[in-house]
Amino acid sequence: MSNTTLTKIELEARYQMREHDYDPNWDYEVREDLFTDCRAVWAQRVMDLLAARADTPFEVGHVFPADLNATNGAIAVYCSGTYNEPVVVIDLAAHSEPFAAENELYGPGEMNAAIEHTITHEIYHAIQESEGLPFTEDEAEDWNPFTRERF
Ligand SMILES: [Zn+2]
Repeated sequence: MSNTTLTKIELEARYQMREHDYDPNWDYEVREDLFTDCRAVWAQRVMDLLAARADTPFEVGHVFPADLNATNGAIAVYCSGTYNEPVVVIDLAAHSEPFAAENELYGPGEMNAAIEHTITHEIYHAIQESEGLPFTEDEAEDWNPFTRERF
């Protein structure tokens, strides 16, 4: 059996696992008016790059801009139970210049890097859930799939 065939079987198995119909509007104030905001487009692009990797447990992922002010100060949330087609909500205002300037990791003008960091962090929680692992913040914070191998 060729590697290509194995991959196809794996992809089909993953497709069949995709059962959730989770709608983030149930839990969050989704900002449909920001779907085409450049920050939202970049966040989705990062998600697409992660989905294209062989070591992530999904082929399609979704990022929704949302107001998260009331969610324990979170700037983004991975929606539990969606790892086979992950849903991440992100507060774009929290990633704008004032946040970037105050953040220890990112300076002014590094908004895109901050968004990339946020999406990869949240997707690591999806990986943790898919493997039955606890959500640990340190590992999620350290994972950089674009520069380091994890597996
Ligand atoms: Zn986290």
